Amino acid sequence: MASTSSRPPQPRRLAVMTSGGDSAGMNAAVRAVVKMAIFKGCEAYVIREGWEGLVLGNNTPENTPISSPSIKAEKVLSPLNPLGAKEVEENKEPIRFGEHVNAFVPTYGEGELLREGVGEAQELGLRGRYIIRVGWDDVRGWMDQGGTLIGTARSKTFRTLEGREQAAYNLIIEGIDALAVCGGDGSLTGADKLRAEWPDHVASLKAKGKITEEQATRFAHLKIVGLVGSIDNDMATTDITIGASTALQRICESVDSISSTAASHSRAFVVEVMGRHCGWLAVMAGIATGADYIFIPESPPVGESWETEMTEVLQKHRDLGKRKSIVIVAEGAIDRNLNPIKPEAIKTVLSEKLGLDTRVTTLGHTQRGGKPDANDRILATLQGVEAVEAVLEATPETPSYVIGISENKITRIPLVYAVEQTQKVAENIERKDFDAALSLRDPEFEEGLKAFKFISQVNDDNKLPKEKQLRIGIIHIGAPAGGMNAATRTAVRYCLARGHSPLVIHNGFLGLLEDNVAELNWLRVDNWTVRGGSELGVNRTTPDIDLGAVAAKFQQFGLDGLLIVGGFEAFMSVKILDDARGQYPAFRIPIVGLPATISNNVPMTEFSLGSDTSLNALVDACDAVKQSASASRNRVFVVETQGGKCGYIAVMGALAAGAVLVYTPEVGIGLQQLGKDVGFLKKRFLLDVKGKSEGRLVIRNEKSSDVYTNDVITKILKEEGKNLFDSRSASLGHTLQGGTPSPLDRVRATRLALRCCEFLESKAFEQRASSKNGTFRSGAAGSGEKLQYSNETAVMITIQGSTVMFTSAKDMAEHADMKNRRGKTAWWHGHKDLVELMGGRKGLADN
Ligand code: ATP
Repeated sequence: MASTSSRPPQPRRLAVMTSGGDSAGMNAAVRAVVKMAIFKGCEAYVIREGWEGLVLGNNTPENTPISSPSIKAEKVLSPLNPLGAKEVEENKEPIRFGEHVNAFVPTYGEGELLREGVGEAQELGLRGRYIIRVGWDDVRGWMDQGGTLIGTARSKTFRTLEGREQAAYNLIIEGIDALAVCGGDGSLTGADKLRAEWPDHVASLKAKGKITEEQATRFAHLKIVGLVGSIDNDMATTDITIGASTALQRICESVDSISSTAASHSRAFVVEVMGRHCGWLAVMAGIATGADYIFIPESPPVGESWETEMTEVLQKHRDLGKRKSIVIVAEGAIDRNLNPIKPEAIKTVLSEKLGLDTRVTTLGHTQRGGKPDANDRILATLQGVEAVEAVLEATPETPSYVIGISENKITRIPLVYAVEQTQKVAENIERKDFDAALSLRDPEFEEGLKAFKFISQVNDDNKLPKEKQLRIGIIHIGAPAGGMNAATRTAVRYCLARGHSPLVIHNGFLGLLEDNVAELNWLRVDNWTVRGGSELGVNRTTPDIDLGAVAAKFQQFGLDGLLIVGGFEAFMSVKILDDARGQYPAFRIPIVGLPATISNNVPMTEFSLGSDTSLNALVDACDAVKQSASASRNRVFVVETQGGKCGYIAVMGALAAGAVLVYTPEVGIGLQQLGKDVGFLKKRFLLDVKGKSEGRLVIRNEKSSDVYTNDVITKILKEEGKNLFDSRSASLGHTLQGGTPSPLDRVRATRLALRCCEFLESKAFEQRASSKNGTFRSGAAGSGEKLQYSNETAVMITIQGSTVMFTSAKDMAEHADMKNRRGKTAWWHGHKDLVELMGGRKGLADN
């Protein structure tokens, strides 16, 4: 660790701001930027009220409220939220140094101004000051807060050249070296402008004598980085933005509630969701809630009359016996001639043409989210950390970046490019080039739209000729996980759309042996997206219970392909069937596994269905526990999670819940380590302001140690904490399997199941094409025909970095730790360190 003397003479000053519409997770992003900046030896600042605050700087007359017409704020979106530390601002000294011995030790701050009311602002001298120094503890407890605690605004002034020059001036005189901006496409367009004009602003300020020669040299380049905080998910070049997942969650909760009343009264509901230029929320909500029809800006209905197209789709659903109709419309929805499609117009059509009792629900600002979900907390934290890294690595030669994500890979995209691509979407829509607009959205969006159409429409457009129709088996295995039913719904509907027979096998391989197999129809699976658990029934029995008997059943039911939805047992089943293909020709059909387990322990895939639902259940429970711990002031809660011998849920849950320590089976728990952890907790509680300590969380996976159980650790902490802190334990058990699956699990299930079905189909066709006589015969597995087979047709669908791929069970076995039932390596292992960094453990470690 560096010594005090190695600290740069002038620590870098890094500021973070939120701008545009608020979104859930913005506070988590600010928290991550502040903590990472301090950890890296920088001084951290927050800029209140977005670009407006930066234009106002710290020279604003004390009594000028931001909403004053004189300063031309377009709109103030949240109350003034004072924070930062009075001492810093008054004394120009760090807040409270605590154990601050060198650049790598966080400056622990009191955080005393946190979440105080507007009335406090004047008293604390913050009115008129928008660029505020903050310490480590100023952002404590921010993870689970909705909106943005540092305020946001839409600023007219910043749209002008003078406004941006003033913003540049304020950054320079406050000595801010680097700026992280969290906002939507507008805010980042503003950031891009400021970046492009920066040299001119510096030259102009110098010419006017407002800054010195030295300042002009020192601040010759603006280091700026963007974090995309927007509920609409409207930024091209990134899969998902901070806040979109929570907004989707809120929408789905509302539509799920509406669905039950709609079915009760046999009504139609038209639900308007946000998305002026982007239909992401509408598409994903459509998939996740099993809606009947959606309208989005990027892909208007193809025919001349959207009215006819929509009514035909809905009438077919009604003809099949559906009692409810849900239409989701993005606020920016348009037809092919760019005319807006509004909910009231849709209602009129449904009422008049179909005679449906139709209601309109506009979800409005409830979609902004409130408390962020697990995904937004994690995304904001990972991106906040990356933003600090990016800005600190920046040189005059490197581009300014926007931090994005592609599947599971945090990315850096040049700001100019990201802004350009985003603007092109709107331009293409204006030009009515909808295909081009859609191609600029992330692959998940396009795939989602395709999946929605495939599974929501009933027609013969995609049906295959009789001789190509297959018999596809679908089975669940292992333990229940959110998304299993959504995946099955998609698979069943895909099969029906193509003319295949979907044969669902109840109660796993045991059920197969008992002929517990049924063919499901379109309506039967209609509500399955929202159902938790496993509608088919699960157990852990793998096919080696009796391979000969299982093969006989494959023949009896004439299976041409098999989809296995489940966790480690699903992987093992694919492997067992593959290994037995030499002996049993019935297994020489394409077999694909779809990982579904809350433990996320399937090798070589970064995600499994159910892990997002489970993380959200964990985070909700931890929020409640933390509140209890905080109310009791000096309390540490040791929370036990499920996960078998895989620490995924514990680590990611700890990151999302803001735990200070996490114990995993991969690392284990040792006496020496425990001693150091106790030492850290003591130091941490000592640094708290008396009477203002918040509770702290420690998360422990159930299999981390046979000796240091939750009970033992809780007792050790209680004993050692003495009068500094006490300790309690909580075990979350099966609550982690979650109730209703999270929207992300539902959507992921749909996407991946669709791909699995396409895989099964194409491999079955390839196999037949290369078989001896080249003919295709349904149920060939049962015919005893010698089918060609290879390891490449016994696979699992996996997500690796930014790619979704099919990985053979053989390859997976090489990467599996069979004894501990997990992968040999995992992408999230390093996040244990990040939990400890964010919890302050790294900064205070062992000194
Ligand atoms: P949301 O996605 O929630 O709408 P946003 O960041 O896109 O968020 P905007 O209102 O478009 O929200 O932009 C926020 C602020 O960014 C504006 O009030 C303005 O100050 C600045 N801004 C937007 N566009 C520009 C631009 N072209 N030039 C300069 N500044 C801009």
